[in-house]
Amino acid sequence: MKHSILIHPDPRLKKVCASVADLSDKLRVLADDMLETMYGAPGIGLAAPQIGVMDRLIVLDCEKEEGVAPKPLVMFNPEIISSSDETNVYEEGCLSIPDQYAEVTRPRDVEVQWLDRDGNLQRQTFDGLWATCVQHEIDHLDGKLFIDYLKPLKRQMITRKMQKLKRELARD
Ligand SMILES: [Zn+2]
Repeated sequence: MKHSILIHPDPRLKKVCASVADLSDKLRVLADDMLETMYGAPGIGLAAPQIGVMDRLIVLDCEKEEGVAPKPLVMFNPEIISSSDETNVYEEGCLSIPDQYAEVTRPRDVEVQWLDRDGNLQRQTFDGLWATCVQHEIDHLDGKLFIDYLKPLKRQMITRKMQKLKRELARD
C-alpha cells in the first residue's frame, strides 16, 4: 500500500526517531509499503518519518541502470560506523521537498551497520550515490534534512516555496 509523503515544513520531519526494538510482521509490511511508495514517487530513498512513522527505518535503491534488477535495501536501526575523510558533492533532492535540488558535501564512503528485514545484522561499505543516499536517509531519522546543510538564505527560500506549495495543495 502506498502512503502519502509529508512535505516540509512538518514537525514530524524535525524529530529524532526511536530505535526499533523488535522486528514484527507489521514493521515488515511497513517496509514493503515504503518501498512501494518510494518506487512510485519515484525516488531512490525514503525514511519512515517521511510517512509520519517515527521509527528508525529507511529503504533505498540507487540502482539506476536500465535493464538491471532492482536492488532494494531495507534497514532497521541503521548506523554509520565509519566515514571517509574524502568527500563527494552531489546535487541532492528529497521527496519531502519536491522539485528543489542543491549541492551537498558529504563523506565519500561510509560503513553502515543495520538490521535487515529478517533481523540479521548487516554491515557494508557504500560509495558513490549509495553513500550519499544512505547518509541522507539516516539524517531523516535524526530530524535532519539536506537543506540544513545549505546557507540560511537558501534554506529559507526553499522553505517558503514549500509553504506556498502546501497552501496550494490544501486548497485543491
Ligand atoms: Zn529526503
